[in-house]
Amino acid sequence: MPFGPVMVAPVIMAFGSPEQQKRFLPGIASGEVWWSQGYSEPGSGSDLASLKTRAERKGDKYIVNGQKTWTTLAQYGEWIFCLVRTSTEGKPQTGISFLLIDMKSPGVTVRPIVMLDGEPEVNEVFFDNVEVPAENLIGEENKGWTYAKHLLSHERTNIADVNRAKRELERLKRIARSEGVYEDQRFRDEIAKLEVDVVALEMLVLRVLSAEKSGKNPLDIAGLLKIKGSEIQQRYAELMMLAGGPFSLPFIREAMDAGYRGEYVGAAYPAPLAANFFNMRKTTIYGGSNEVQRNIVSQTVLG
Ligand SMILES: Cc1cc2nc3c(=O)[nH]c(=O)nc-3n(C[C@H](O)[C@H](O)[C@H](O)COP(=O)(O)OP(=O)(O)OC[C@H]3O[C@@H](n4cnc5c(N)ncnc54)[C@H](O)[C@@H]3O)c2cc1C
Repeated sequence: MPFGPVMVAPVIMAFGSPEQQKRFLPGIASGEVWWSQGYSEPGSGSDLASLKTRAERKGDKYIVNGQKTWTTLAQYGEWIFCLVRTSTEGKPQTGISFLLIDMKSPGVTVRPIVMLDGEPEVNEVFFDNVEVPAENLIGEENKGWTYAKHLLSHERTNIADVNRAKRELERLKRIARSEGVYEDQRFRDEIAKLEVDVVALEMLVLRVLSAEKSGKNPLDIAGLLKIKGSEIQQRYAELMMLAGGPFSLPFIREAMDAGYRGEYVGAAYPAPLAANFFNMRKTTIYGGSNEVQRNIVSQTVLG
């Protein structure tokens, strides 16, 4: 799961105190502590800075009230990193803080949302007078927007998910061969176009990573990686479903597990391709919708 290692860890490393680093990073590195992401709220998705969940400072605690939504796999979450409103003065961005909240705290309620594929992958998370020690604040109060943007650029680079695209491309070829559609020139053209885009995406990710290493700030184009990566994910999901034909339809829960190698009549490993196709509709929405990414890239990169 990316929320610990890829999202909150870089923020704690860059902006957390030495005590916070000592306390939180080992559990993330070992994978023992499951983190969730509490950014979006009803009415505050693309317009994230309008978020309303309040954290009021009372002595050495914050009292948190409000609601987050679309919180991925929060039913397993032990900790959640949240953007909370600590001030209503000035621009909306200047009154936001970055708070780490123990999900076992009294007053935290998680309610599942079932998605198109039948899985409760996302949740609503409610905070009702939740007491959070002030020492769980990352960096300075009201500076959370800066930390949030740092995290989002890592999230978007990660969403490009090149390694998965390469693996799924091979799986697409396997299914196409076993279903006979690999012999169809037009279908092979579609696979070839996809392969070209996967290779191009990999080159782009490597360029971003090497530029970051040499101290430039290439994360501005993270939105571009997110746009291309998510479009590729939707294309291979669709091609696999087309190749699987009617065998894509049965929904077999265990087939969602990594390494599943079930036996089916007809095609090799096609289920649950239709469910996967529906699930992949999310990729152009989460992590900041592709429409909004295009706006950001056009403003920051193209000028
Ligand atoms: C499967 C899934 C998992 C998620 N997991 C998490 C999570 O773990 N934690 C979390 O905090 N959030 C999570 N999200 C929320 C996600 O970040 C938001 O859904 C996303 O930012 C879009 O916000 P919204 O849903 O409120 O849509 P809205 O902002 O209401 O957008 C609706 C539509 O309007 C378009 N639009 C909005 N503004 C503009 C604009 N300025 N220009 C052009 N078009 C625009 C959008 O592109 C979209 O098509 C998840 C979402 C999904 C689908």
